[in-house]
Amino acid sequence: VTPAATMVGTTIGAQNGVLFKGGDILERARDVDTVVFDKTGTLTKGEMELTDVVVFDADGQPLADGGEPAADGGALSVRDRLGEDDVLRLAATGESGSEHPLARAIVDGAEERGIDLTEPDEFENVPGHGIRASISGSEVLVGNRKLLRDEGIDPSSAEKTMERLENEGKTAMLVAYEGELVGVVADADTVKESAKDAVAALRERGTDVMMITGDNERTAGAVAEQVGIDPDNVRAEVLPEDKSDAVESIQSEGRKAMMVGDGVNDAPALAVAHVGTAIGSGTDVAIEAADVTLMRDDPLDVVKAIRISDATLQKIK
Ligand code: ADP
Ligand code: MG
Repeated sequence: VTPAATMVGTTIGAQNGVLFKGGDILERARDVDTVVFDKTGTLTKGEMELTDVVVFDADGQPLADGGEPAADGGALSVRDRLGEDDVLRLAATGESGSEHPLARAIVDGAEERGIDLTEPDEFENVPGHGIRASISGSEVLVGNRKLLRDEGIDPSSAEKTMERLENEGKTAMLVAYEGELVGVVADADTVKESAKDAVAALRERGTDVMMITGDNERTAGAVAEQVGIDPDNVRAEVLPEDKSDAVESIQSEGRKAMMVGDGVNDAPALAVAHVGTAIGSGTDVAIEAADVTLMRDDPLDVVKAIRISDATLQKIK
């Protein structure tokens, strides 16, 4: 490829909001045979909304009526005294220390329902799993199954509820209070309008499309189905620090992968990918680690980047 051709390619890219960090990147992008999308904020809008609050009774069964606090709590287990608003208050107070989009949605949802929140005494992020907080001296956990299991709490009585919500593509989170499972809250995200078309166009080119996420298998599968990604091509429950290993393992099969992501979490994976692409409102850390920056928040620009690269090569042949 001549310098003039790559110059034309990078210029056309720039005019289209596709910034290649140099002519060599443009040449590398044409070899991409696999595109790996991060899920949250990349294929989805990353604008979570609280959708469900489910209260569990003392037997760990979800209350159909949404949970009425018992009149006399005296002799009862703590969860018998909790209603829907109480579960949401605990979850939102615990999450008020977190910047995670899942946490923001829970806090916003509680505030919209007029629930008063306090500051937790203590707060701890458990990356890829959830949060641990202390509220008036009592421990509150909000997060996935592993978070509770690691604390010795069995989440299995919530399994049916969790699966129902996850099959709807929602992220369901368990809420534990003083060592007991008291409820489940769920957030939903929306798939970006052009995500499905982008996946289809890439497959049309003969490119394999994969998805990687810290979210669970079922939620990931529901989102994959919405955008047309094969269930076998989904890597779910990947911890933030393991995303780059996942990309390396995909590439160890001889693939040349373009990783597309938006978050701080994605930066190491962007760095190890054959081509790292930061999308849209991506964080500075992601943009710095990336080879290509997409100015717009549009998955179709991933296709554009590869097409510009393909076209640059063809002119030379
Ligand atoms: P993603 O890759 O989708 O950005 P993360 O790696 O941040 O996801 O988190 C993975 C999973 O851990 C989430 O789907 C959720 O179940 C749980 N989790 C992470 N952070 C929180 C939080 N602040 N509150 C509750 N659950 C959380
Ligand atoms: Mg993301």
